[in-house]
Amino acid sequence: MPASKGYAALNAQSPLAPFSFARREPGATEIAVEILYCGVCHSDLHMARNEWGQSIYPLVPGHEIVGRVTAAGNAVTKFKVGGIAAVGVIVDSCRQCDPCKRGEEHFCHEGATLTYAATDRVDGSITMGGYASNYVVDERFAHSVPANLNLAAVAPLLCAGITTYSPLRHWNVGPGKKVGIVGLGGLGHMALKFAHSFGAHVVQLTTSLKKKEDALKLGADEVVVSTDANAMKAHAGTLDFILDTASAPHALDPYLTLLKQDATMTLVGLPEKPPAFNVFNLITRRASLAGSMIGGMPETQEMLDYCGEHNITADVEVIPIQQVNEAFERMLRQDVKYRFVIDMSSLK
Ligand code: NAP
Ligand code: ZN
Ligand code: ZN
Repeated sequence: MPASKGYAALNAQSPLAPFSFARREPGATEIAVEILYCGVCHSDLHMARNEWGQSIYPLVPGHEIVGRVTAAGNAVTKFKVGGIAAVGVIVDSCRQCDPCKRGEEHFCHEGATLTYAATDRVDGSITMGGYASNYVVDERFAHSVPANLNLAAVAPLLCAGITTYSPLRHWNVGPGKKVGIVGLGGLGHMALKFAHSFGAHVVQLTTSLKKKEDALKLGADEVVVSTDANAMKAHAGTLDFILDTASAPHALDPYLTLLKQDATMTLVGLPEKPPAFNVFNLITRRASLAGSMIGGMPETQEMLDYCGEHNITADVEVIPIQQVNEAFERMLRQDVKYRFVIDMSSLK
């Protein structure tokens, strides 16, 4: 396997810059992929800047990977050299505990191995992510991509897609349900597309007045600007479920008051600081506040297959890797429609 080139943060303050490192040769059940596209997730920004306090440097971000298989170990059955494979947020787990056996590797009792800034279970090295020329992964943690979908627009499905598909499925979002989506960013626009596709009535909540038209085009039945207290009041007590994808610290109370009795609001957004909320907004409607994290390998494949059948992909702005720092800044300004994806052929 040749050396890998990529972009790394050397510390929490440094912008991403060109960085070279080595990947191992693929083992018997592993594949090597040449990365074609990698999505830019807000988690990459949180991690590059150590906003969750768990970053390890040098840090090569990227966990929305689509690539071409360049080598396969002799026990690989799912992939062939020359085919397409996709890799998401998890690249390994203990494979023995109950959640792993159920295919819920993200809940592995020993902790799943993340695609970057984690200790590799095979060789003890620190994992380096997909803002790079290649990746080596066990085929159990790689996915097949439906042939009808645009590859650049598939990449964000590997994190933004599964992170929203999984809770919408778990909380039975579908016909007859009125669902609120908080935030119209990478995760939010996928949540909107899925909830609409599942047949729910979707209320998109946004802080950006200028995204109203887009939200309607993406499938929202109603759009509410969350800073408009009167508009929020009009929806009080009407929602069966809320999925909160917001990346920055925000008050939960204005959203909790939108829930019906016995309804649930699930957090997937991971702002730097923990949220505060008024417990009265839960007890007065016996509401539940919940959380959800990505999804397991079988559900990720199920989501990709669903996207193939229903022709669902992300709305992407494809960028060369040299623009990744600017993309981070634009993401912070909520100026992304609706996911940046790096075209890895720009990596020289
Ligand atoms: P993103 O593309 O930057 O979108 C975030 C959106 O949040 C923004 O577009 C904005 O939408 C909304 N927002 C920002 N500040 C807000 C505020 N103060 N109040 C209300 N809404 C606000 O980010 P992303 O990639 O979708 O990621 C979203 C969050 O999910 C990040 O924290 C990320 O780390 C986390 N995440 C979690 C998981 C998981 O497994 N749980 C997986 C992936 C990502 P509007 O302009 O419409 O208001
Ligand atoms: Zn992500
Ligand atoms: Zn496990």
